[in-house]
Amino acid sequence: TKWVYGFGNGTAEGSAEMRNLLGGKGANLAEMSNLGLPVPPGFTITTEVCTWYYEHDKSYPGDLRAQVDAALAEVGRLTGRAFGDSANPLLVSVRSGARASMPGMMDTVLNLGLNDVTVKAIGEGAEDMRFAYDSYRRFIQMYSDVVLGVEHHAFEEILQEHKDNNGHVLDTDLSAEELAVVIEQFKALVEEELGRPFPQDPMEQLWGAIGAVFGSWMTPRAQTYRRLHDIPATWGTAVNVQAMVFGNMGETSATGVAFTRNPSTGEKALYGEFLVNAQGEDVVAGIRTPQDLTEKARLEAGSERPSLESLMPEAFREFVTICDRLEGHYRDMQDLEFTIERGKLWMLQTRSGKRTAKAALKIAVDMVSEGLLSERQAVTRVEPAALDQLLHPTIDPKAERDIFATGLPASPGAASGAIVFTSDEAEQEKAAGRKVILVRVETSPEDIHGMHAAEGILTSRGGMTSHAAVVARGMGKPCVSGAGLLRVDYRAGTLSAGGRVLKKGDTITIDGSTGQVLLGDVPMLQPSLSGDFATLMGWADGVRRMRVRTNAETPADARVAREFGAEGIGLCRTEHMFFEGERIVAVREMILSETEEGRRAALAKLLPMQRNDFIQLFEIMKGLPVTIRLLDPPLHEFLPKSDEEIAEVAAAMGVDAQKLRERSHELEEFNPMLGHRGCRLLVSYPEIAEMQARAIFEAAIEAGRATGAPVVPEIMVPLVGLKAELDLVRDRIDAMARAVAGETGAQLAYQVGTMVELPRAALRAAEIAASAEFFSFGTNDLTQTTFGISRDDAASFLGTYQQKGLLEQDPFVSLDRDGVGELVKIGAERGRSARPEIKLGICGEHGGDPASIDFCESVGLDYVSCSPFRVPIARLAAAQAAL
Ligand code: PEP
Ligand code: MG
Repeated sequence: TKWVYGFGNGTAEGSAEMRNLLGGKGANLAEMSNLGLPVPPGFTITTEVCTWYYEHDKSYPGDLRAQVDAALAEVGRLTGRAFGDSANPLLVSVRSGARASMPGMMDTVLNLGLNDVTVKAIGEGAEDMRFAYDSYRRFIQMYSDVVLGVEHHAFEEILQEHKDNNGHVLDTDLSAEELAVVIEQFKALVEEELGRPFPQDPMEQLWGAIGAVFGSWMTPRAQTYRRLHDIPATWGTAVNVQAMVFGNMGETSATGVAFTRNPSTGEKALYGEFLVNAQGEDVVAGIRTPQDLTEKARLEAGSERPSLESLMPEAFREFVTICDRLEGHYRDMQDLEFTIERGKLWMLQTRSGKRTAKAALKIAVDMVSEGLLSERQAVTRVEPAALDQLLHPTIDPKAERDIFATGLPASPGAASGAIVFTSDEAEQEKAAGRKVILVRVETSPEDIHGMHAAEGILTSRGGMTSHAAVVARGMGKPCVSGAGLLRVDYRAGTLSAGGRVLKKGDTITIDGSTGQVLLGDVPMLQPSLSGDFATLMGWADGVRRMRVRTNAETPADARVAREFGAEGIGLCRTEHMFFEGERIVAVREMILSETEEGRRAALAKLLPMQRNDFIQLFEIMKGLPVTIRLLDPPLHEFLPKSDEEIAEVAAAMGVDAQKLRERSHELEEFNPMLGHRGCRLLVSYPEIAEMQARAIFEAAIEAGRATGAPVVPEIMVPLVGLKAELDLVRDRIDAMARAVAGETGAQLAYQVGTMVELPRAALRAAEIAASAEFFSFGTNDLTQTTFGISRDDAASFLGTYQQKGLLEQDPFVSLDRDGVGELVKIGAERGRSARPEIKLGICGEHGGDPASIDFCESVGLDYVSCSPFRVPIARLAAAQAAL
């Protein structure tokens, strides 16, 4: 088997298409090399080796070593050096590279191959001992941290002490002699910690680093990241070994990162940061504050420090040309890493840049007008779930702002919450139902869970490409980074700026669009959905086949959903309408009555209220389809509990409170979700169906007259398992239709259908379809009943299932295609076989989940229905599913 793929010098064994095998980084290095761009030569050990490694008790294929040796020799040939050579040593970087980029989750080792002998040769070759020692101390520090498990901060303390003792501020102030002393102390520290010396053999170093990359694939933080981003563990990571080029070879060297367009706003302008005389990690680590790439950005930021454009104009121009070329080649915004070694530019990475939803929209729309993309391609360029970010609030421009501090606008949107200083606290507070802002000096991959729990993130250190900024943008959370005047004191639990001090628990608001940190809970505005959003959604609507409806029962929700583009109501849960105000007493009266007469009396009180609700919904939907589901309450939610509630209902019914309490106890169930709910209640008390049908018909007539658009209500029967259940309820509905038509003289058009949310209904769909004009798959209950796990209690153990890899995803969030999905497929096929024109939809939570929507397209459903705020997501996901 071929386990190793080389690249460099204008050719490569791999290409961008080989991402699965070479990982994203390896595939793109190969591609850049094939394009003739200046890429330091190197090779990629494939993801298959990672899989092999974990399948064989963490060992390597027998023929891997020989392939690595050969590839290393080839890199040596191309660079005129040799790995481990004492006169002309080759140094390499070792980096991970998974199929999907996992920022900050995996580790990198630079300057590998240095030891007490090669450091001298490197220094002499470069005629710069300071540079050689600086590289060596970085190497010991990084390698010890990543491979040997000696903590980073122990080294930082030694370094800091040296700087303090010698009156230095920056790392770059340390002289060669001082660094030589630092190195001896670093080595002593390692030996003390591990009981053995720092490895001097370059081959041992190399295999140690390769093992560390594969090992990091299974660290808890990598696993967490994969779980959050639906990346299967079986994908594995590749390892990239590449000849070093040095950004820390003095004042004509530099290293930096760039985006071909602004990743926050999408503006078409090269955007990035760099540091002179530094190595890659310095930029992202936020230890030194980086400088702007372009003059334009420098002027906008009002920075005194020179841009790359003015400092190294030749390398800058070459870089700009390469950026344009790569963007045109990939037809996407690129995120690049580069190093300049003594004036010579080298490309270290290119990949599709992560971006905010706002930027994604603007870039997709702009690239269509620039002729880089077709409209259909543009539709695929925006991640549906990311649209959620645009639906987040921003600070009301009219609100008063008490500015506490200002940092960088690292990730847009605004958020308020109580200050917490640790990620664990953020998680605890969130679990207790409180909103928090996570405040850190800087964040690291260990903070992912806290960043998830927080409404927003604030850091005092780090630039626009710092960990906090990159991860927050990916999560769609507001973030203000690098608020340099902010003092975070973890020990005291305080945050101070400009003489003012805040404590843990105090409320602040961060504005990730301006970088402001504001005191208190500042008023916000809901976003508008015009411009690029409307343009792209228009293209999406043009390509999708499925309709998108909404689950709504209140006029407010229905209006929001219409604004978001809902094409009707797919599920109106009438039991939700029964909770409001004085209604609940009437509902309880109805439930607790022991006679039909009593129930009818209570229902008579509810009829006008229901009719009024439906009129409003029909009017808002102006002739669009509206599916109203008959009552489906888990009974226990309606039973009166407190003495007060019981007394209130007893008074309304004119019965004894004690008797009522007993009746209420009788109705209690062990398993309410599987109990006397849905059509079972309608079978017991058909008068409920009659009242609701009457309310619907009368409302349809009235709304039709008022709006001039005829209303054809769709009446849906819940939790059907037997055709006979549906028939019994349907008979009552049909009879009521005749009665209302007779009373009013109006022509009534309507449809009766059923939820398919029990396995039996899916299996017997052909038979049931004889009585149903439409099916709506209720995948919440269908998931519950297919798995036999309670939708109310499953959260307590589903997390463990995901952690242990038994389930990739929570099946209540993303449809289980294999099991529940098969029942949906069977239901759809059998339903159609009996009634070819039957209308099919879905109204479980999955109707708003992009992966589930993709499944719905594959089985040919006619529409999905989801909560109002997910309607735009569903429109885009349905379009992508159709492409
Ligand atoms: C369902 O079960 O999927 C459904 C939409 O109904 P509910 O969530 O109201 O039970
Ligand atoms: Mg249901």
